[in-house]
Amino acid sequence: LQQRESRGRLKSRLVVLAGPTAVGKGTVSSYIRDNYPDVHLSISATTRKPRPGEVDGVHYYFVDDAEFDRMIAEHELLEYATVHNSFRYGTPRPPIDAALDRGRSVLLEIDLQGARQVRAVMPEAVLVFLLPPTWEELVRRLIGRGTEDKAEQQRRLETAKVELAAQDEFDAKVVNSDVAQAAQEVVDLMALPAAHSRAL
Ligand code: 5GP
Repeated sequence: LQQRESRGRLKSRLVVLAGPTAVGKGTVSSYIRDNYPDVHLSISATTRKPRPGEVDGVHYYFVDDAEFDRMIAEHELLEYATVHNSFRYGTPRPPIDAALDRGRSVLLEIDLQGARQVRAVMPEAVLVFLLPPTWEELVRRLIGRGTEDKAEQQRRLETAKVELAAQDEFDAKVVNSDVAQAAQEVVDLMALPAAHSRAL
């Protein structure tokens, strides 16, 4: 109902936000969750353990391997992938269908492999690539957040190079210099009724 014509094609209400490690995908999506209440931010399932401050059911659904296998077997995941060669992450499908049915826009914050899978099963989705202002800034952010050890940082930077090379597969690119501005640009790609978005 809220879909509008844009340049001759229907605008999607499902937006996928991907981009290299440490670019600020999590910060931008939290900002959208907190400031645009009409957007449904998908909560992924993951087999990794919670970090300090992370809450089950808020940041992720923290599950074990058996539960993740069950979700795959019962076709509960829209997409799933092993990220950084260690843990599995996936997007539960039922909450997304429910949100779309209620006319809400949906945002997925997932990795490149997941974005490609969504493209295959939901061609109407808009794929957004979040870019760092510069490569040096990306390295600075990754080291600055201090959540990974040296070896893991190196692994993630290698992955980041591969991911940056895929940016032209995406429908839109947003540079994350300023979180509020990047969030607004992402939301602008959703077919939200103007009166419903609460920009700051
Ligand atoms: P982190 O462990 O730092 O929270 O997330 C690691 C990576 O997993 C990030 O690149 C994030 O985008 C990705 N990720 C989180 N949830 C999902 C998901 O449901 N599916 C896929 N494919 N990737 C995800």
